[in-house]
Amino acid sequence: MTTPQGSGQDMYALLSRLYPMCRSLTGRGVRQTLLILREYLPGLEIREVPSGTPCLDWTVPQEWDIRDAWIEDETGKKWVDFRECNLHAVGYSTPIDAWLTPEELDARLYSLPEQPGVIPYVTSYYAPRWGFCVPHELREKMRKHLGRFRAVIDSELKQGFLNYGELVLRGETDREVLLSTYICHPSMANDNLSGPVVTTFLARWLAERPRRLTYRALFIPETLGSIVYLSQHLEALKAKVAAGYVLTCCGDERAWSFLPSRAGNTLADRAARHVLRHHAPGWMEHSFLTRGSDERNWCAPGVDLPVASIMRSKYGTFPEYHTSLDDLNLVTARGLSEALEAYKLCAAVLERNAVWRAACLGEPQLGKRGLYPAVSFVGSAEGWVRDMKNILAYSDGEHDLLSIAELIGAPFARCLEIADKLAAAGLLA
Ligand code: ZN
Repeated sequence: MTTPQGSGQDMYALLSRLYPMCRSLTGRGVRQTLLILREYLPGLEIREVPSGTPCLDWTVPQEWDIRDAWIEDETGKKWVDFRECNLHAVGYSTPIDAWLTPEELDARLYSLPEQPGVIPYVTSYYAPRWGFCVPHELREKMRKHLGRFRAVIDSELKQGFLNYGELVLRGETDREVLLSTYICHPSMANDNLSGPVVTTFLARWLAERPRRLTYRALFIPETLGSIVYLSQHLEALKAKVAAGYVLTCCGDERAWSFLPSRAGNTLADRAARHVLRHHAPGWMEHSFLTRGSDERNWCAPGVDLPVASIMRSKYGTFPEYHTSLDDLNLVTARGLSEALEAYKLCAAVLERNAVWRAACLGEPQLGKRGLYPAVSFVGSAEGWVRDMKNILAYSDGEHDLLSIAELIGAPFARCLEIADKLAAAGLLA
C-alpha cells in the first residue's frame, strides 16, 4: 500500500489518548471512549441497553466498574498495581479485600510461562470470579514469598447499561455498508484500539463526500454488542446491508490478512480481495473457520450478512496478542494510515460498482470517438485500448464492473475511469 502518512499521525494521537482507559463490556471506560470518539464524529449516537435485557440467546450483564486493584505484602510493599497496568485485574472481577497465603493467591493468578515477562489479558464476563494477571517471572517470586499477601480489587457490579455508539451517514440510497468495530478491550493497541480509530477516520472521510450508499458505523463491545444490535435490528440489516466489514487489528505494519464472510464471495469479499490484490503485496487469506470477532455474529446462521474483515496481524496470530506487549510501539501512524487507505479503496469500489451494458453492436470504431491512438504501430494499442475493449467485451448486463476488473486483471479505479469515458462516448449504458 503506497500512501502518504496523511492522517496517520492524527490517528496515532487519538489511539494514544484512548490507550490508558480501562474498557470492558460495559462501564465508565466504554462511555469515556465513546465521548472522545464523538468529538471526532459529532453525529455519533451513544445508545444504552439496560442490564438484564434479553438479546437473542443472551442477556445484557450487570455493568462493571473498577476503581483500583493491587496486591501488597505485610510490609505494605505493592507487588501488583492496577494503576501501572489495567491488564493486571481480570476483566469483570468481583470485589475482594482479603489476606491470603502465597498458595491461596497463586490459584487466582494468570500468567504465560512461555512469555515470562508479559502480562496477559484475561476476562471472566459470565462466571463471577476475581483474579490477577501477572508476568510469570513475578508469579514465581510470589510463590516463594514468606508471608501473606493482601489482594484488593475495588470493583463494582451493578444494574446499569451496556453502551455502544452508532453513526449513520445517509447516502442517496438505502443500500448500506456496515462498519463494525469494538470498544471493549483495556490498554491494548492493535487488538483493539486500531479498529475504532481507523473506523472513526474512515467515517470522517466518508462524511465529507457525496455518497450513493448509506454507511452505518457501530462501536460496540465485542460479541455481546453485535448480539444486542442484531436482537433489535436484524430485519433492517438483512434488508439493507450490501456489504460490511469488521475493523480490528489494523494498526501494525506486518502481514495483510483477509477473513472472508461465511458465504465467501459476497460483494464485501470481492471488493476486499480486489483491493488487497492490487494494493497489499503479500496479503494472505484466512479461512472463515478461523473467525474470532463479530463476524461470528454478523455471519451466524439466520443472520448471514455479507461481512468480511481486512486486517494487518490477525487476532490470535501475533505474539503480542492479548498481552501487555500489544502497546503503543506495536501500532504505528503508517500502519493505521495504510489500513485506512485500504478501507477507503473498498468504499470507492462499493460506491461505484455497477452493471454496464455495451451500447453498440459489434466492435465500435474507437478512433472516430477520440478513444484510439491516431497512428497505429506495434504496442500502441496495448494497455489502455486493450482494457477498453475488454471492458466493452464483458459489459453484457450481467458482469458488474468489479468482476470485469477481476477478469481483466486491472485495478477498479482504472476500469472505472475507462467505463466513464466509454459512457461519455455513448458506448456503455
Ligand atoms: Zn481481543
